[in-house]
Amino acid sequence: MSFVVPPTPTVSVPVLGHAERFPVHRIYCVGRNYEEHAKEMGFTGREPPFFFLKPTDSLVVVESSQTGQMPYPSLTQNLHHEIELVVAIGKGGRNISAADSAQHIYGYAVGLDMTRRDLQNEMKKQGRPWCIGKAFDHSAPIGPITPIAQAGDVNNAEISLLVNGTDRQRSNVAKLIWNVAETIEHLSAAWELQAGDLIYTGTPEGVAAVVSGDMLVGEVAGLGQLKVAIK
Ligand code: MN
Repeated sequence: MSFVVPPTPTVSVPVLGHAERFPVHRIYCVGRNYEEHAKEMGFTGREPPFFFLKPTDSLVVVESSQTGQMPYPSLTQNLHHEIELVVAIGKGGRNISAADSAQHIYGYAVGLDMTRRDLQNEMKKQGRPWCIGKAFDHSAPIGPITPIAQAGDVNNAEISLLVNGTDRQRSNVAKLIWNVAETIEHLSAAWELQAGDLIYTGTPEGVAAVVSGDMLVGEVAGLGQLKVAIK
């Protein structure tokens, strides 16, 4: 087959302990999925989960023990970090029940849902889509995927983010409003999940701005660290 312009290469994420890589299909993200973060964004109470997407090629793929480089994006004065547990789907499906969800998970990774908060807030105010605030180039750093059998008890794991060595975000995945299993149930009712999908599950409280020169170190216990430098 030949193409009139060069075809987009497959984006892939390394897998710990494997030479083979995880090819990325879609990137789903869950909004406001920790209570204390929902509060700091001005919301209270349990609402149904809601989702947005990022383009696959917005990933900044950080290889094992490397430091990723994220260029400071255009058009913003308020680039925020959001540390998140990421679920990698290994087997697709629709209308997956929470009870069956584990069979569909390949593994987990540490990710950052970087956000142009000023642009997102402006879009919220105007009732417009969040794309410009959330789905920009280089907006989704991610570390290597740990296969589910090696990941430990991710649903009760500490999640944290340090910026220049100082604590910014620290919580536990157990505090997710909609846990991983429930998120897969809701998401697969709305879209048919595919092998290769990634799900950014939401961020705990403590989101704040970063600037050029900052060093971000995110961690989910059992999944290792994600290091990203803002250029
Ligand atoms: Mn997020």
